[in-house]
Amino acid sequence: MSSEPSDEAAEVEETDEAEESEESARPSSAEVREWRAAAMRMVRQFPDPVLRNPASEVGAFDDDVRTLVQRLGDVMMSAHGVGLAAPQIGVSRRVLVYRAREDDDVKVLVNPRFLEKSDETEVDTEGCLSLLGGELTVPVERHSRIRVSALDGEGATLEFDAEGFEARVIQHEVDHLDGVLMVDRAPQDERRGALKELRLRAG
Ligand SMILES: [Zn+2]
Repeated sequence: MSSEPSDEAAEVEETDEAEESEESARPSSAEVREWRAAAMRMVRQFPDPVLRNPASEVGAFDDDVRTLVQRLGDVMMSAHGVGLAAPQIGVSRRVLVYRAREDDDVKVLVNPRFLEKSDETEVDTEGCLSLLGGELTVPVERHSRIRVSALDGEGATLEFDAEGFEARVIQHEVDHLDGVLMVDRAPQDERRGALKELRLRAG
């Protein structure tokens, strides 16, 4: 998922840990823009067929999986996304990363599945890095609370509850693993408008 528009420079953390350095390690806004542009070149855009392809389960936790997890996290952070699924960078495997709150660490879910979904749902606006780079937004109804089972980035089993925005991000990203896009879940009128805009702008 894409993030809400915000002050881009404020989202970047200082990475230079040298304590004695008097130089500011904070990147300039031009650097931040360039990193985002570079990251967005990695993100597949509608109507790339890989976005419609159901992704395959991860078997063994090998170096390929670890590299994929690292790359997904890097691209998501540089692109200022709040979630990114492997098919969005052209890899049809069931791996996703997300960061629902700015201060959180990047969370990794491999082979995620839903153990429970609340009957209660809520509608909110979503954007997607693969749909006009995040500029397109549509209202989407999602389950308010979910219980998720997955493996983490090291292959350890996870089971946890999520609600609200975190639950929304996870449902959006798991949809990507099934070849489903947010426009598929938008109300009919919005879906029609969104597809028209996509066709116009995607050429
Ligand atoms: Zn998306």
